[in-house]
Amino acid sequence: MTDTPPLSSSILDSRHILVTGVANRWSIAWAVAQAVVRSGGRVTFTYQGESQKATLAKLVSELPRDGANSLVLSLDVKNDAEIASVADRLSSEGQRLDGLVHSIAFAKREELDGAFLDTSRDGFLLAQEISAFSLVALCRAFGPLFNPGASIVAMTYLGSERIVPHYNVMGAAKASLEASVRYLAHDLGARGIRVNALSAGPIKTASGRAIKGFVDMQKAVSDRAPLKGQELTSDEVADATVALLSPLMRAVTGEVLFVDLGYRQMGMF
Ligand code: NAD
Repeated sequence: MTDTPPLSSSILDSRHILVTGVANRWSIAWAVAQAVVRSGGRVTFTYQGESQKATLAKLVSELPRDGANSLVLSLDVKNDAEIASVADRLSSEGQRLDGLVHSIAFAKREELDGAFLDTSRDGFLLAQEISAFSLVALCRAFGPLFNPGASIVAMTYLGSERIVPHYNVMGAAKASLEASVRYLAHDLGARGIRVNALSAGPIKTASGRAIKGFVDMQKAVSDRAPLKGQELTSDEVADATVALLSPLMRAVTGEVLFVDLGYRQMGMF
């Protein structure tokens, strides 16, 4: 898209944000982390597996020193003990949270091709567990660490509410994620904690490219969205995430914010 003005360097004003889901420099979560730091926030990262740990260490070294917490924590959301251990570690270090970015999804590659009708039982449950239930598990485990005014943002996609060929099992998981966002917003609202989803248009990342027909999805957006002829960037998604994390959005919760160049609003032609 066209050049955007830089974010205000104080919009997050030292807020401490836990960012999950940085697999590499193309991950949406990495763009989000950079935007958080540009906006005056401080990031603690989690990683999944040793190879990501090394990648993350290299990436974090590119951030200004006061932007990244030296804590970088292992978190596989299938593992309850690891979730508890992240919460314990933050708590024992006296670290409170002002935000959480859930940028995690997984489905078996064979479920993202062919017919939804052929979805396997274990493939369905695995996608739900990693891509949707994990948000519930993280909110529960980290609940005591959240400051009033904290904001949780989960990444989702239009395939939750529209038929997107091949998105299949992940469409069902994203529908579940978005419903979970609404119920969590209700449960946590009394403590002043907000929960929203951000529905991003297609962006070339490892997860995006795993979906058959991904290039066609990108082309459809570029050809048909009101903001025509543009390729959505992860920086644009990241800036909108910062807005949701910030007090500017303090009255917004339980929502799905579309950051897709307007594509969702289009009819047939
Ligand atoms: P990505 O592959 O860079 O990130 C996906 C992340 O999920 C990885 O870091 C991976 O380690 C993590 N993950 C998977 N299983 C996990 C587990 N068991 N425990 C902990 N982490 C696990 O791809 P991305 O495109 O940056 O995806 C981030 C989020 O954005 C996902 O929720 C995705 O569905 C969503 N999203 C992506 C697009 C797109 O076009 N790329 C569009 C809309 C929404």
